[in-house]
Amino acid sequence: MSQPQDFVDVAIVGGGMAGVSLALMLQQSCPHLSVALLEQHPLPEAAASVELPSFDARATALASGSLQLFDRLGVWSQLREYAAPIRRVQVSDRGRPLGVSLRAQTEARASYDGMLGAVIENAALGPVLHGALSGTDVRLLAPARVLDVQMEEAGAQLQWSAGEDSPIQLLRAGLLVVADGVNSPLCRRLGIETEQASYSQRALVTTVGLQRDHGGVAYERFTPDGPMALLPLPRRHGQHRMALVWTSPEEDAAEIESLSADSFVRRLQRTFGWRAGRIECAGEVSSYPLSLSLAREQWRRDLVLVGNCAHFLHPVAGQGFNLTLRDCHGLAQSLARGGLAQNSSERLDLLQEYARSRQLDQQLTIGFSDRVPALFAAPGPLARGLRQFGLLGLALAPPLRAEFAGQAAGFGL
Ligand SMILES: Cc1cc2nc3c(=O)[nH]c(=O)nc-3n(C[C@H](O)[C@H](O)[C@H](O)COP(=O)(O)OP(=O)(O)OC[C@H]3O[C@@H](n4cnc5c(N)ncnc54)[C@H](O)[C@@H]3O)c2cc1C
Repeated sequence: MSQPQDFVDVAIVGGGMAGVSLALMLQQSCPHLSVALLEQHPLPEAAASVELPSFDARATALASGSLQLFDRLGVWSQLREYAAPIRRVQVSDRGRPLGVSLRAQTEARASYDGMLGAVIENAALGPVLHGALSGTDVRLLAPARVLDVQMEEAGAQLQWSAGEDSPIQLLRAGLLVVADGVNSPLCRRLGIETEQASYSQRALVTTVGLQRDHGGVAYERFTPDGPMALLPLPRRHGQHRMALVWTSPEEDAAEIESLSADSFVRRLQRTFGWRAGRIECAGEVSSYPLSLSLAREQWRRDLVLVGNCAHFLHPVAGQGFNLTLRDCHGLAQSLARGGLAQNSSERLDLLQEYARSRQLDQQLTIGFSDRVPALFAAPGPLARGLRQFGLLGLALAPPLRAEFAGQAAGFGL
C-alpha cells in the first residue's frame, strides 16, 4: 500500500563515495536546498565501519586537488589521521633503465600542504564521510532501495522500499542524481545507454607488509602484462604497509589470486622488483574486472549522473574518484549559482552549463586513464622507444612534468 509522497529539492540515489561526497558538498554550498540520500544498504548510526561496495578493502589515492576539496568540506582534518601522505611518485617501465620521479617539493603546482596526494583505506573513508553527513540536514534514507523512477514534467518521482516486507514509498524530487555505481540499473530503466569496452584485465588488490618504511613514495610500475601500483599506507602495529593494485590479464589474475600467501608474495616481488624493498607478507586478495564504461548521456532535464554510473575508468592512475569529486564540486557550484530554477528551460540551462564546465576535464582524465596502460602494454621497439622518450621528456622538461603532475593531481583544468 503506497503512503503519501513527500518532496525534496535533490534526491541522490546511492550512498557510496560519489553520493555521500555530493551530499556533503550540496549541504555546504546550497544550504537552501533540501537533500535526501537514498542507500539500499543499512547505515547504522555512528558506525565504525560502513558496509557499502565503495568502502571495501581497497585504498584510494586522493590527488592533491581532492585533499583541497575535502579540506574545504571540513573533513580533511579527520581523514588525515588515517591517511599516508604521498611525497614522491616514482614512475617506471619494467626492464628499462629510465624512470621519472615527481616530488612534492618541486611540483608546487600539483601539491597541497607539501603532499602530491594521500592514500586512505576505503574502510576508513566511509565512516568519516558518513559521520560528517550525520551532523547535517541531509535526509539519509537507509536502507532505501530505489525500485523505479519516473521523470515528470518537473522533477522525478521515486519509488523506494526499506526491504522486501516493507511498503513501497514515494518521494518526489526537483532534481534526481543517480549515483548507483557501474552497470547502473536505474540508468537502464531511464533508457540511458552505456558504452563499455573491457580491458580483459583484472585489478588484484591487497595490503602488503614491507621490511622498510616507504618514505611517502607511491610507485607506479608498468609491465607488459599491465600496470602495478604500490601506494603508501600508515603503519599499523609497527608494520610498514603499502596498498597494492596489480593489473593482469584475466587468465593470469585468476591464477595469481589462487596462489598461497607465500607464493603470492614471491611472485609479486619478482614482478614488481625491489624498489620498495623486501615485501614480507600480503593480506587477503580481492579482484575487480576492469573496463572503460561511459554513459552516453550524463544529464537530462532534472536528472544528472555522477560517479561510476557516469564514468568507470581503469584504476591505473587512481583518477576515478578524484574525477568524480571534481564533478560533484562543479555540480554543487552550478546549483549554488542557479538554485533549482522554477522555469523548465532555466533548469535545462543550469545542467547544460554544468556539463559544459566538466567536459574538458572529463575528456582529458578519461583519455589519460585509457591511453597510458595501452601505451605501456604495447610490445615492440617503437612503443618501447615512445615510452622511454615519454619518460625522458618527463624527466628532462619541467613544464611537461608539471603538466603531467597537474593532470594526475586534478589541478589546472
Ligand atoms: C581496484 C580499484 C581501485 C581504485 N582506486 C582508485 C584510486 O586510487 N583513486 C581514485 O580516485 N579512484 C579509484 N578507484 C575508483 C573509485 O573506486 C570509484 O570512483 C568509486 O568507487 C565510485 O563510487 P560510486 O559511489 O560511484 O559507486 P559505488 O561504490 O558502486 O556506490 C554505489 C552505491 O549505490 C547504492 N545503490 C545501488 N543501487 C541502488 C538503488 N537502487 N537504491 C539505493 N541505493 C543503490 C549501492 O549500494 C552503493 O552503495 C578505484 C577503482 C577500482 C575498481
